[in-house]
Amino acid sequence: MDHLNYIQAFRDPAAAGALRARLQELGATLAARGRHVQVMEVCGSHTMSIARFGLRDLLPLNVTLISGPGCPVCVTAPGYIDAAIELARRGVIVATFGDMLHVPGSDSSLADCRAAGGRIEVCYSPRGSLALAQANPGCGVVFLGIGFETTIAPVVSLLTRAAEARVTNLSLLTSFKLVPPALRAVLDDPGVKVDAFLCPAHVSAIIGLQPYEPFARKYGKPCVVAGFEPLDILAGLCAILAQVQEGRAEVENEYDRVVRPEGNPKARAVMERFLQPADAQWRGIGMLPASGLALRPEFADYDAEKRFGFSVGPGREPAGCLCGEVIKGKLAPPRCPLFATRCTPTAPVGPCMVSSEGTCAAWYKYERNQANG
Ligand code: SF4
Repeated sequence: MDHLNYIQAFRDPAAAGALRARLQELGATLAARGRHVQVMEVCGSHTMSIARFGLRDLLPLNVTLISGPGCPVCVTAPGYIDAAIELARRGVIVATFGDMLHVPGSDSSLADCRAAGGRIEVCYSPRGSLALAQANPGCGVVFLGIGFETTIAPVVSLLTRAAEARVTNLSLLTSFKLVPPALRAVLDDPGVKVDAFLCPAHVSAIIGLQPYEPFARKYGKPCVVAGFEPLDILAGLCAILAQVQEGRAEVENEYDRVVRPEGNPKARAVMERFLQPADAQWRGIGMLPASGLALRPEFADYDAEKRFGFSVGPGREPAGCLCGEVIKGKLAPPRCPLFATRCTPTAPVGPCMVSSEGTCAAWYKYERNQANG
């Protein structure tokens, strides 16, 4: 089967119709018991797929989807952007993935800094920053290492390549984050109602299923891992509603063509070699203990904060932006007064409108004419 046909197999309308019918049947049973079920889709790619394929319209009326803290760009604190801008102002070359360019810091973005003459270079892979460092041996190069478990191993592997190539002018400004502590923070917040998690696909491919067990056993929340195609998501939601209907709370894997129960031990070994647990600042959530990973002391030469003698602060959120509430699942984007007025993808106020995985961007692109929210 070629790639296109492979993808289309997970977008088959007849199969989607059958899953919709099953969802409606499960929803009706739960509605008869007076149950409303609120499911948090953790990952930004799920958010985008749900909006793009109109999956919200297929749900029973007593089932709601809310977005979680799974967009890595959105949860990056403004102080981190401020730090990257400060590095560029000091003459350092800042290398980054393109989706970070327009993320607002406390007062400006990396795009503003670049327009003012700062050397901000967009890379398409971490290796791009190594090539930059080799091409500019007289200049410090800092790669912005952000992201969840999915992307951490490829970023820190860069350090092995730098050491092999004897490149000494490359370092990382890290803001690596872990998904399970963020889910715990969501559940511990009395202002957020979550009945179940649709768990992220790529993150689960690295961490496996075990890290979700406490959410099922201790908190009684069904956790179902699902892929990104429409049939994946609908099947994941069916599995969640079936658990709720039967009074179960278990970890299930509806994406076993990619996610293995044990995850990817090799990737985790790479992470373990370079990184250690650290407290991390989350935009909208604040400082969460042991929710991130920082370079181990033996790799201090590659740590931009140590090399350039500064530390990343929390920064300030853009005035009027409610991304923090969106990230925690407390607010649907249309309820932000700035949504689609002062805040649009071409003039974003907050990161949730910037990122290709951002909840506000997803609603703006696909669902902004819907009255609910
Ligand atoms: S609509 Fe814009 S200002 Fe409002 S929460 Fe989303 S990104 Fe922030």
